[in-house]
Amino acid sequence: MKITNVETHMVQIPLKPERRMKSSLGQHIVSPYLIVRVVTDDGVEGVGEATVMPRWSGETVWSAAALIEHVLAGQVIGRDPTDIRGLAYAMDRAAAHNWFTKAAIEMACWDIAGKAAGQPVYELLGGAVRPLTFRCRFSLGAYEPERARRRATELVEEGFQTIKVKVGGDPDADIERVSIVREVAGPGRDIVIDANCGWDAQTAIEACDRMRDLNVGVFEQPTPDGDYAAMAQVRRGIEPEVMADDICFNMIHARELIRNECCDVISLYPGKQGGIQKCVDIINFAEQNGVACSIGSNLEWDIATAAMGHVIVACKNMQVEKYPGDVLGPDYHEVRIAKNPIEINGPLVTITDRPGLGIDVDWDVVDQHRM
Ligand SMILES: [Mg+2]
Repeated sequence: MKITNVETHMVQIPLKPERRMKSSLGQHIVSPYLIVRVVTDDGVEGVGEATVMPRWSGETVWSAAALIEHVLAGQVIGRDPTDIRGLAYAMDRAAAHNWFTKAAIEMACWDIAGKAAGQPVYELLGGAVRPLTFRCRFSLGAYEPERARRRATELVEEGFQTIKVKVGGDPDADIERVSIVREVAGPGRDIVIDANCGWDAQTAIEACDRMRDLNVGVFEQPTPDGDYAAMAQVRRGIEPEVMADDICFNMIHARELIRNECCDVISLYPGKQGGIQKCVDIINFAEQNGVACSIGSNLEWDIATAAMGHVIVACKNMQVEKYPGDVLGPDYHEVRIAKNPIEINGPLVTITDRPGLGIDVDWDVVDQHRM
């Protein structure tokens, strides 16, 4: 089997008004996606999704489409789509970084490999080590007090056990928000916070000190990208566990995190890591070094959410029971891309056991939302 074509489709989907996201990175109101369709000479097709936000990885739908059309397609056309490592090597040699763009092609090739083998992707990854249904946390934006209280109340009613609160801005306002969420959530639910690189080490440590009574379990990405020393300092200086996210895109970053003893947990997902295989490689490397993993999100649509689900189901060290992740992206948006969308019921997400990623793209929906 050989790849004969790689198509790119740019779409733009609005978020549901109540789900619009606010963090120290700014506001998120509309999601642009590049949907990738990889075609083979056997007639088997695969789909992938580049979940691109320029503020997050520097990639855009236009840069992703241009890189695929002018550089990456030429590297993968004519190759065996089931040779995942060979494809990744060819793409890496042709272009540095561009994680989400490469991941779109890579996950489409897993989709093809699964369909060709008649097996879901998690089987190709070694088989299910947990149920196809798993529990997620909810990520509450850096909202003003009244909205934070309203949303937290709704989340408790929807059955969320873990609420992540965005911080990383003005510490007074952030601490007030965490305190409101604790008040609404009561003592029995878990609260984690995420600064998205927004604080320096001293601000992060002082803020945690002031939040001592609020029983924050995990502090995600307190300090800036690239500053391993600051993150290690925070980990030594606070009670909550530290989770790395925005600082870790590849194996080099994962090695530095572990070498510098920066974190207890690393948040990973196929898009950010440049593909399913690279994500699994880091999960396994972390496991060998006694570091847990959880799943993060860039507000994926159904295709990339399925890719995340297969990784969770197949990887023991993706410890979503202890550190629930964010796999709720499709539910944030006003429309769904798939004829058989990922099942999302409050905090519970279920992937299918159908071959490949298990997603049939509704191309009419894609047509209606082209950019
Ligand atoms: Mg994060």
